[in-house]
Amino acid sequence: MPTQSGLAALPIADLRDRHAEYTTQYETLVARGLSLDLTRGKPAPEQLDLSNELLSLPGDTYTSPDGTDTRNYGGNKGLPALRAIFADLLNTHVDTLIAQGNSSLEVMHDLVLFSMLHGNNDSATPWVREERIRFLAPVPGYDRHFAVCAHLGIDLIPVPLGEDGPDVDTIRSLVAQDPSIKGIWCVPTYSNPTGVTYSEDVVNALVSMPTAAPDFRIWWDNAYAVHTLVDEAPKAIDILTLAADAGHPNRPYVIASTSKITFAGAGVAFLGTSQANLTWYLGHTGKRSIGPDKVNQLRHLLFLKDAQGVRDLMAKHRDILAPKFDAVLSILNERLGTLNVATWSQPEGGYFISLDVVPGTARRVIQLAAQAGIALTAAGSAFPGGNDPQDTNIRLAPSYPTLDAVREAMDGVATCVLLAAAEHALA
Ligand code: PLP
Repeated sequence: MPTQSGLAALPIADLRDRHAEYTTQYETLVARGLSLDLTRGKPAPEQLDLSNELLSLPGDTYTSPDGTDTRNYGGNKGLPALRAIFADLLNTHVDTLIAQGNSSLEVMHDLVLFSMLHGNNDSATPWVREERIRFLAPVPGYDRHFAVCAHLGIDLIPVPLGEDGPDVDTIRSLVAQDPSIKGIWCVPTYSNPTGVTYSEDVVNALVSMPTAAPDFRIWWDNAYAVHTLVDEAPKAIDILTLAADAGHPNRPYVIASTSKITFAGAGVAFLGTSQANLTWYLGHTGKRSIGPDKVNQLRHLLFLKDAQGVRDLMAKHRDILAPKFDAVLSILNERLGTLNVATWSQPEGGYFISLDVVPGTARRVIQLAAQAGIALTAAGSAFPGGNDPQDTNIRLAPSYPTLDAVREAMDGVATCVLLAAAEHALA
């Protein structure tokens, strides 16, 4: 987090000069009447184009390699051959990894909802009958995880996210004492928004720690398992085996999807967990659906072919994404590098860059940017309830706009960060 040296340490007369200079830059920016958007981590149209072959698949084929007629009802676990590809990529087991509909958020939501309404298979009672249910939220984190909890009446306890995962000492002491803590949200690879990847030590601590709640679960959202910006993504940690070895086989729910591999709105989601958990989950989903869209799953199988097919496709995504990330980082470096007005993550994968500006100025930066026609994610969105206690964090999502637009937007954002920092220092 930036400290109040650098710009803030300048003599007052110099600071006033800087303020005047940044104000002029900002007025020029506003006069350009931009309309740019760095808010949501959506794939760009050129990334979606990489998978256009899906639009004409599966052609006349409708039988999967295991003989399933994909047009019909049934097959609630999804196509085995597609599950095998993602079991390989997620370092889990085909028998306990199922393929579902198009959205992993839906799977995560349902896991929470079914637990609220019915309890999970280790619960004494439906969660909704308990006085209070709480989840741990490593922060900064993914706003839609937090929204699921807020929507279903679950309180969130923020825990700091460090360089190799969340603070396990804090987590251990919280879950050991409090049976109302039933879950934790984790994005273990290239975390949203800081890009952090969990270490094996952290994973071991999470699966082995004693919890006061016997039905405690980890929502292990490996959304960015293969989404690397460097040569190779880290090998996924086999959390299901680690948890089983630690005596807690039912603790993790491994979740992923092809949303940012193929089509964000028409991909396939996966859930990997113990056999007992799968029986419980499918028992509930079986009441709301007679099976997932297997034609879409077959289409994905024919297009992706195998795990290497996915890695090759991800390399093409990287060719499109990496220059945008590089542009953000080099502009931040050039414009803000020496002034101690911001720090930022340097992710090796995923979809976001996390920017920390002078504490107390994130809202102001976002407001200034909005007035200049640059939409940034709402202040505090990476924190439960939108409450960033330091008012410092801004999530940057450079994937969707063109490279030129990313450059233009980031140059504008840098101007806003500088102006807000100068205002703050003079206040
Ligand atoms: N999980 C994380 C961490 C994400 O960042 C996102 C989308 O941004 C999702 C899940 C959404 O996944 P899906 O499209 O499979 O619902």
